[in-house]
Amino acid sequence: MTIKENLQHIKSTLPEHVKLVAVSKTKPISDLLEAYNAGQRIFGENKIQEMAAKYEELPKDIEWHMIGHVQRNKVKFMASFVHLIHGVDSLKLLQEINKQALKHDRIINCLLQIKIASEDSKFGIHPNNVSEIIQSEEFSELKNIKVVGVMGMATFTNNNSQVEKEFKLLKSTFDDLEILKKENYDLKTISMGMSGDYQLAIKCGSNMVRVGSSIFGARNYINS
Ligand SMILES: *Cc1c(COP(=O)(O)O)cnc(C)c1O
Repeated sequence: MTIKENLQHIKSTLPEHVKLVAVSKTKPISDLLEAYNAGQRIFGENKIQEMAAKYEELPKDIEWHMIGHVQRNKVKFMASFVHLIHGVDSLKLLQEINKQALKHDRIINCLLQIKIASEDSKFGIHPNNVSEIIQSEEFSELKNIKVVGVMGMATFTNNNSQVEKEFKLLKSTFDDLEILKKENYDLKTISMGMSGDYQLAIKCGSNMVRVGSSIFGARNYINS
């Protein structure tokens, strides 16, 4: 199947309220253009410099989403154009994003990454520690960021009931946090679900799925 056919197939299965992020990490510009020409406008990358290079070469009506772990010293390379940063896992990182957004006179949308997996390798804020960050004075001072949702990654396992449990934890964390409202905080988005589990994620309340290999094919990491 071509990239266009894959995209059309996936889109036909998504409810209208679910946004599709096409995860194009490691893929060449020609693949992204094929998806673009099939109508896709939201792309996700997990390395800042790779995303910036692709941004330079591709049409400017693309929404670029940073879905990977973000190092503070690299925020500056995406601050002028990034549309949504999914993996925000600390107040310090929010402060750096705010600082770089201010330089470009922008407000950068962020998702808080919540640790839902039992694996140690997954990043994220513990569900119980989020409201403390949101209600801190330091957070209120950040005028150039807006927290618009949460993001999570389930454990990499074939055990569907465990994955389901973790997705439901993200949904209930979202529901608890959604009642807070601030100028720089208004939760709307639940980013969860990848190629292998996005249908389950949608059943559990996801409204943004991040799909890579089911659109572009398996990744080849030899050159990256
Ligand atoms: C790579 C990646 C995806 C997409 O994974 P696929 O299994 O290829 O769909 C989604 N989310 C994050 C954070 C990723 O790093």
